[in-house]
Amino acid sequence: MLDKIRIVMVNTTHSGNIGAAARAMKNMGLSRLYLADPIAQIDEEAIQRSSRADDILSNAVICPSLEDAIAGCGLVVGTSARSRSIPWPLMNPRQCAAQASTAAQAGNEIALVFGRESRGLTNEELQLCNAHVHIPTDESFSSLNVSQAIQVICYEMRLAFTETGPQAGEPWGVEWDYPLATHEQLNGMLQHMEQALIDIGFLDPDTPKQLMARLRRLYLRAGPDKLELNILRGMFAAMQKQAAANRKPDHNELNEGSE
Ligand code: SAH
Repeated sequence: MLDKIRIVMVNTTHSGNIGAAARAMKNMGLSRLYLADPIAQIDEEAIQRSSRADDILSNAVICPSLEDAIAGCGLVVGTSARSRSIPWPLMNPRQCAAQASTAAQAGNEIALVFGRESRGLTNEELQLCNAHVHIPTDESFSSLNVSQAIQVICYEMRLAFTETGPQAGEPWGVEWDYPLATHEQLNGMLQHMEQALIDIGFLDPDTPKQLMARLRRLYLRAGPDKLELNILRGMFAAMQKQAAANRKPDHNELNEGSE
């Protein structure tokens, strides 16, 4: 089940941190490392710091962007040393591991996302995530080395995944009928929604404010399944059709007149 988890490192600058992350993962039985737009290479230092976890380095998946690294995931969790502009669902590592374990039992892919050494994850990157996780620390000194943050989270994953009870995999208390929508399906739906809201005159593209960020948060928090997403897209398509018809009254009148 731990093989459902991807550890995603974004824009990592120091190769030693990539090596240390591989070691931390292998100690806890995780193996899937994704490097999103890395600045550092997998070099000699990375291999040394990985100790004997260099198999994880050779199998690391290098992606051009975070979006690519989380493609196909039903649960995406971003890690953060500090709180950000809009409040987002926030968990501690233990709660995060429980949720990840449930999602994995239900067959979903999971991404745990870690930020740059210098400035963590951007707000845009954090807004791609269903939820955030913060490792409780002393408030005056909250930022861990990224590989040590990975160690803490992987340890919690190990505990949760090796202690799952019979109810695991049933987040709503019953066996669910559809898998969670993946990250890119959800993104596609949100883009469709944005266009539909513009078409019906609800969203002004010149002054969008935080509307889409807040709607994104709503849907990421709800965690819709694939069927629910299709229903929403059907609704948006119908809204757009109606808006297009309303924009052409003369044409409609013409049609009615000719009938
Ligand atoms: N100075 C940056 C922190 C970078 S630490 C900032 O203020 O945002 C590099 C990465 O390690 C973070 O992006 C996060 O992925 C992880 N990390 C460090 N401390 C953490 C904490 N207390 N909780 C969760 N993740 C943490």
